[in-house]
Amino acid sequence: MEYQPIIGLEIHIQLKTKSKMFCTCDNVSEDIEPNTNVCPVCMGQPGVLPVTNTQAIDWAVLSALALGCKIPSFSKFDRKNYFYPDLPKGYQISQYDKPIGINGQLILEYLDKNKKLVQRKVQIKRVHLEEDAAKLVHDPTTKFSLVDFNRAGTPLLEIVTEPDLRSSLGAKISMQELRDIFRYLDVSNCDMEKGQLRCDANISLKPEGKETLSAKTEIKNLNSFRAVEKALEYEIERQTKLWNGGKPPKEPSTRGWDDAKQISYEMRVKEEVSDYRYFPEPDLPPLEFTKDYVKEIKLKLPELPHQKRERLIKQYELGFPEAKMIASDRLIGEFYEGVLSELREWLSSLGEKEKKIEEGIKKLRKLTASWIVRDLFKHLSEEKIGMEQCRITPENFAEFVTYIYKEEISGPAAKIVFAEMFNRGADPSHVIDEKNLKQVSDKGELDKIVEKVIKANPKPQEDYKKGKEQALQFLVGQVMKETKGKANPKIVADILKEKLS
Ligand SMILES: [Zn+2]
Repeated sequence: MEYQPIIGLEIHIQLKTKSKMFCTCDNVSEDIEPNTNVCPVCMGQPGVLPVTNTQAIDWAVLSALALGCKIPSFSKFDRKNYFYPDLPKGYQISQYDKPIGINGQLILEYLDKNKKLVQRKVQIKRVHLEEDAAKLVHDPTTKFSLVDFNRAGTPLLEIVTEPDLRSSLGAKISMQELRDIFRYLDVSNCDMEKGQLRCDANISLKPEGKETLSAKTEIKNLNSFRAVEKALEYEIERQTKLWNGGKPPKEPSTRGWDDAKQISYEMRVKEEVSDYRYFPEPDLPPLEFTKDYVKEIKLKLPELPHQKRERLIKQYELGFPEAKMIASDRLIGEFYEGVLSELREWLSSLGEKEKKIEEGIKKLRKLTASWIVRDLFKHLSEEKIGMEQCRITPENFAEFVTYIYKEEISGPAAKIVFAEMFNRGADPSHVIDEKNLKQVSDKGELDKIVEKVIKANPKPQEDYKKGKEQALQFLVGQVMKETKGKANPKIVADILKEKLS
């Protein structure tokens, strides 16, 4: 029997407002002494009154609009009551039946495991605002649990999807797409390691061709993209075994994910909504959104990742994988287009004719994209920095790819130049001069070196004459070594073929 996974996500995103959701405490919970960033409001002292952070409201509306949600004119906050050590007030201020945004969608495009392009729309049920709870720190040596209230009361955006996902990969891609969108909006850094983006996943299985579903299992607090994918894969396997054993899950359950052991484990039976005794928050006025207000916020929407992706493919004829990577980061997308606008100038400065310039630009668009996707991303992730800290300017990058295009530097030399540009913001022409990396394309000069290499390597020479193509590659490599990577490999191969035939 085949089973189809039915997956929905509940995503939490920490907004990077200056202050907390309902008080004036700084919205900083990382890298400071525990319990130093608190006040009577976020600690739930008697008699205090919360005040709504308007920046958080504006950003929640902006976020909901970016996800294509409708913004109802009326919204309000509610108390969600439960008793837990991380909740100082004994209730969380959240939103129950009147969220800020409803009925949106998330547009996903990705290559599946067979490299086939998948396009899918995931319906967004709701987007609402709430306050975050404190952080529990479990000390394994003393076995005590300590509470750090610095995080209590920080603004949290919750996004609930319909159960539209059908694979663990789709769930992971959804999270990545949301991260990209919220970084574009500049309302959250979405660093999963810091808990700024977290997710609970609901999953049940449906036997192929039938309408009956097993009871829903919720996996709590998934805090890396890998964990989202792995936990769901594990659950699909676990629940498939239960179905095959004739005992599909009948009761809804809540499970945790043990990342070290790569297993999920039973936590507790999930509370029903009625257990939370929701009621309207009496200390906060309801929210009313006029049409003009929504229009004004809508004007602040930037071009979103999926829109940029589509445009890069159409406008610059990029392939899907390159376009997806470049569009995943707003600054990298801007950088790419910045380089392209510099390229025309560089090619004109070489005294090329208009037709030749057009041809050149077409090639250089792809060349630029591949250097960004392959080398720039690699260097950024190795240095663990974001594009905002990158020292390479679009001008220098344009100059750099023009050198490659004009075959003035070889592939290995280009790698050296790029690393210098990345590490110290160096000008490519300076690096080329400084390290004497200009490609040798002069036939006379290369001729002598090729002679020398052939003499020193009689065996590959024989092999090539017997028809072994790799032998030629070996000899080209030897010439490259001899010239410290400066020889033009195409010309070297031509000379070798001529001499060996
Ligand atoms: Zn406070």
